[in-house]
Amino acid sequence: MESVRVTTTTSGRTAISRTVRPGCIGVRLPAVMTRRTHAQLADAHVATLDMAAVRRQMTRLRRWFREHGRDLPWRRTRDPYHVLVSELMLQQTQVSRVIDYYERWLQRFPTLHDVARARPKQVREAWEGLGYYARVRNLQLLARAVSPNGEPNHALPSEPEALRALPGIGAYTAGAVASFAYEKRAPLVDTNVARVLLRLYAPEHSPKSGIGQRVAWALAEAVMPRTGKAAWTHNQAIMELGALVCTARVARCEACPLRRGCATGGDRRSMGGAKGTAKKS
Ligand code: SF4
Repeated sequence: MESVRVTTTTSGRTAISRTVRPGCIGVRLPAVMTRRTHAQLADAHVATLDMAAVRRQMTRLRRWFREHGRDLPWRRTRDPYHVLVSELMLQQTQVSRVIDYYERWLQRFPTLHDVARARPKQVREAWEGLGYYARVRNLQLLARAVSPNGEPNHALPSEPEALRALPGIGAYTAGAVASFAYEKRAPLVDTNVARVLLRLYAPEHSPKSGIGQRVAWALAEAVMPRTGKAAWTHNQAIMELGALVCTARVARCEACPLRRGCATGGDRRSMGGAKGTAKKS
């Protein structure tokens, strides 16, 4: 099997070089490509994937998650507002810190409408200590837009495009609510997911670069299971692998269910720029 390295030369040409690495999920690209946009390059990466091998890999990943995934409070719910609260709190904040806040917040504001009708001072006080207060200001704006008259928590839209039109919801959060609450086939990419997917299939790219982000989103879309039903487990599993095994500081390849077929596969020199701390939007 082959692996591929995609680089952009100073003249703007895109050079594709191949190396043979045992067990790497394959490629079929011409040796040199003319100038391409990031989107085209991302598509080219996806076109190299051996999808049958990818599906086997993702099945192994979901099995691993069912065995090793952490039991976190927001993994026990499909309530879209509760999922949204957890995702907003987890932005820039560690899981262990969020658990208390999440449970206290939902005791105080069990519904979207409770947030909508609260005074801004009350919601700000309940968020006190978590920081990044734009998150809670946007949550209240969103609640007032979605539930001005007591509409239920499921009044939150289920489609990523509609979610993204709401205050404070970026591409990641839209994918998270759509897949975790509504089990939609919606991809998501935070820094953990980008790191895992780039190490797996395109380690020459950094998740911090524009092209790295493009490639990560294209890969996230491509490796999703065919049905929405498995989307919840799939997205949780990639994030969990990035949090527990394929971390920013160290890749524990010996414990990784994706080692077979990984472009990095325990070779630290191949990790390139695919490092970083968890960040969502
Ligand atoms: S084999 Fe290693 S580098 Fe590849 S996804 Fe697993 S932990 Fe990350």
